[in-house]
Amino acid sequence: LIRLDHISKSYGPSEVLKDVSLEIRKGEFVSVLGPSGSGKSTLFNIITGLVPADKGTLQVNGEIGYMQQKDLLLPWKTVLDNIVLPLDLKGSDKKASRAKADSLIDRVGLRGYEHCYPSQLSGGMKQRASFLRTFLSSGEIMLLDEPFGALDSITKGSMQAWLLEVQEALDVTILFITHDIEEAIFLSDRIYVLSSRPGVVKEEIAVGFGSENKRERLVDPELL
Ligand code: ATP
Ligand code: MG
Repeated sequence: LIRLDHISKSYGPSEVLKDVSLEIRKGEFVSVLGPSGSGKSTLFNIITGLVPADKGTLQVNGEIGYMQQKDLLLPWKTVLDNIVLPLDLKGSDKKASRAKADSLIDRVGLRGYEHCYPSQLSGGMKQRASFLRTFLSSGEIMLLDEPFGALDSITKGSMQAWLLEVQEALDVTILFITHDIEEAIFLSDRIYVLSSRPGVVKEEIAVGFGSENKRERLVDPELL
């Protein structure tokens, strides 16, 4: 569904991405793993079309939805109004949008909170509301930039398990960005590593796995 060939990107003299190629097929859960500053969000912005690449080609077949690193809910709107906001902005039928959101609200564990304001929700609940908002406006492919980065480890664990369930139930393809090795191993079918060892040319490594035994996967931390 998504294919990048030999993508490079520099900001002024600093080369952020060098010759990055990757592919995401339908139904996959693919992670991009790398330390802070390795260019993960830059890669994300290139795929979503927010930022142009300097070199290389990008192909996207399908409707992408994305959740940015700091994807905030509007504090003056209710949870439900936040979730349907992109659909409202597109001019979709308001009743139909709300009915669609309502049919998925149980799935994200927010039943009973539809008419609350974001400040009344926990961090994990806000993440799930953002996720549903992204899902409703996208459909096939979802790009998530460190969606659980700000959560405590217990909430993070339950959100990860939840995400895998939802991926299966909603049949969505996911590109997940993280700097957390364990998280990438637990969640992904495949992992791309963005390396940024000082003085070493940035390399990008694909690690192929089967889809079973997600917990037992190992990545050599030296790759980072
Ligand atoms: P983090 O894990 O902290 O989110 P990241 O891997 O997402 O990091 P990026 O945000 O892609 O990293 O940034 C990679 C590098 O590119 C950084 O050195 C950053 O300073 C630089 N950079 C990113 N965006 C811009 C920009 N608009 N202008 C100039 N430099 C930028
Ligand atoms: Mg980032």
